[in-house]
Amino acid sequence: MHIPFIDLKAQYKSIKPEMDAAISEIIENSSFVQGDAVKGFEEAYAQAIGVNHCVAVANGTDALVVSLKALGIGIGDEVIVPANSFIATSEAVTLVGAKVVFVDSHPDTYSINTEKIEEKINAKTKAIIVVHLYGIPSDMDSVMEIAEKNNLFVIEDAAQAHLAEYKTTNGKWKKVGSFGDLATFSFYPGKNLGAYGDAGAILTNNEELARKTRMYANHGRISKYDHEFEGINSRMDGIQGAVLGVKLKYLKAWTQKRRKAADYYISRLQSINDIKIPIINENYRPVWHLFVIRTDKRDELLNYLKNKGISVGIHYPIALPNLKAYKYLNHLLSDFPVANSYQGKILSLPIFPEITKEQQDYIIDAIYEFFNK
Ligand SMILES: *Cc1c(COP(=O)(O)O)cnc(C)c1O
Repeated sequence: MHIPFIDLKAQYKSIKPEMDAAISEIIENSSFVQGDAVKGFEEAYAQAIGVNHCVAVANGTDALVVSLKALGIGIGDEVIVPANSFIATSEAVTLVGAKVVFVDSHPDTYSINTEKIEEKINAKTKAIIVVHLYGIPSDMDSVMEIAEKNNLFVIEDAAQAHLAEYKTTNGKWKKVGSFGDLATFSFYPGKNLGAYGDAGAILTNNEELARKTRMYANHGRISKYDHEFEGINSRMDGIQGAVLGVKLKYLKAWTQKRRKAADYYISRLQSINDIKIPIINENYRPVWHLFVIRTDKRDELLNYLKNKGISVGIHYPIALPNLKAYKYLNHLLSDFPVANSYQGKILSLPIFPEITKEQQDYIIDAIYEFFNK
């Protein structure tokens, strides 16, 4: 049996007539950049996350860059980012001229370890970027408390966490992306809400930041040629707005299916002593962008599963501070013990809304076979 890592073809098949009509309409109206479909999606997405403003941009990396720019972060500033993430998170900081300051991962959630943040704060620190990695919320109560105490901005990189929820200490469930000064989302095709190309968004409750980010992403203007400052071209395409508008209607149902698949993995894999399954705090509702296990025999298991036709991944094989790109920071392996120990143990199993019980059983049985050999 061949099992893909995600199955975008199956998803397209399930919504084909509606999707084809939405895309045709964009082409017939020649509304290729921004336009009504993008505007409609912005409104619907802001409502889905529970914030006042959504600014559609060209991709999730730009969403981070534009957010940092709108906060006035640049040369001489420092920004705290987690040691385990996709490089876009830290890249954006360098791109605006600021210094990347890594913080180690939390041993259970894989997100930033909030107990390690304060020791990295100094007079130059301007912001914390938290990443709701794998679709598991970061500890937002702690992050917001630290930010408030130290007068720092918070950007949530929610590229992997569309509709994930976090219960605050006052007992209220809120969607991730509604906590920080700004939140960024990616709609890269493989993300939980994926476009048919690159796309991203910035969410905020702050009207001034919404205005600034919208202008920065469109050459520093609101209307045609009244450029108030220099910005970049990072607008969302009309076709992507239409695609996302259609898909957003199904996101809740697709998320439920991901949760069901994750629950099934957990129920069957928890008895294998050689595997660590995700530990989820009862105040978190993850959306399972990735289902990540840990094992000391990671590379052997990876090859075993690949030979059985199962597509697996590693997210990410090299923790950010260990990448060549960050050699200049001269970090030691002992600086980030959790991220460094996990990079050789983590393995992402296939998870997507359309995954069947038969496919999951095939994967799980293969894992049992491997450990019983
Ligand atoms: C995908 C991703 C991004 C970047 O998004 P793009 O749309 O690919 O630019 C940023 N941060 C994280 C955590 C991601 O997973």
